[in-house]
Amino acid sequence: MTIQAKGYATHSATTELSPFRFVRRDPRPQDVVIDILYCGICHSDIHSARNEWGWTTYPFVPGHEIVGRVRAVGSEVLGFKTGELVGVGCLVDSCRTCPSCDAGLEQYCDNGFTGTYGGEDKIGGTPHSVTFGGYSDIITVDERFVLHIPENLDPAAASPLLCAGITTYSPLKHWKVGPGQKVGIIGLGGLGHMGVKFAHAMGARVVMVTTSPRKGEDARKLGADEVLISSDAGAMQKAQGSFDFLLNTIPVGHDVDPYMELLKRDATMVIVGSVEPLKKVNGINLIFRRRSMAGSLIGGLPETQEMLDFCGKHNIVCDIEKIAIKDVNTAYDRTVKGDVKYRFVIDMTTLKA
Ligand SMILES: [Zn+2]
Ligand SMILES: [Zn+2]
Repeated sequence: MTIQAKGYATHSATTELSPFRFVRRDPRPQDVVIDILYCGICHSDIHSARNEWGWTTYPFVPGHEIVGRVRAVGSEVLGFKTGELVGVGCLVDSCRTCPSCDAGLEQYCDNGFTGTYGGEDKIGGTPHSVTFGGYSDIITVDERFVLHIPENLDPAAASPLLCAGITTYSPLKHWKVGPGQKVGIIGLGGLGHMGVKFAHAMGARVVMVTTSPRKGEDARKLGADEVLISSDAGAMQKAQGSFDFLLNTIPVGHDVDPYMELLKRDATMVIVGSVEPLKKVNGINLIFRRRSMAGSLIGGLPETQEMLDFCGKHNIVCDIEKIAIKDVNTAYDRTVKGDVKYRFVIDMTTLKA
């Protein structure tokens, strides 16, 4: 016996998402069964649904910004109770024995984590060999990969914290962003808007770095103290060597040199948006002032819980536009055009309609 699930799937790189029925595994003793309330739309969902990264198998159910309520727990589950508000992010399994997993950095598992969608399902219990994501009404997840969502947060607006939130929180924490520092957030989209909120809450002086004066004004409303227009050569020249840290959320390959020049001695720029070749890195910008460029991938389970607790304490959620599941294809097209402030979130109760 398995759990019957309703959801939306794509069946090829060129077809739209449409209603799809499938099964979830019955809970093992260590599993949590979750009734999904909301799921955010991450740009990775669209890249994957359209097989733009070349690894997608079909049918494909996207969604890794999941918030819901616990329906049932297995006999060995200690951390969760029925009815509790919970979340699931980008990971649902990892080896649990390698040094990265031991350190609670499951996203860097040496043996490869299992993604919430499109990952090889090593636990099994269903006829399909890959994982199906959160554009559905129910999911079964191992307790280790389930998170507590603070009850004071709006559950819809909290859902993108599970990917966009942790992707930006983790590097800000790892590179110890805080008071007295000038921190630049490059790009204002799903990731960038969370970067501004977190860096502001951590006490840094936040500068929105964008080509668009309109986005600069929007960033001020989110907590940015200053705006640097990156297409203004004079302003960029003046800002050279002045930043303690840069979080680069630009989602496509680009010339990084103009940004590297903004860093102080020993400062770092972290790439979180572009999972494709960067166009140019001039060694002189690394050598002079001993600067670094680094990357960062989402966050491990302990840090994701820390981020959610931080959000509960500081009342931080994402700015979202809530949609019905039938409008998901339109939302994809609008996301590709950057026409959303700043994340679409699907109301999964609309699956029943
Ligand atoms: Zn994502
Ligand atoms: Zn591992």
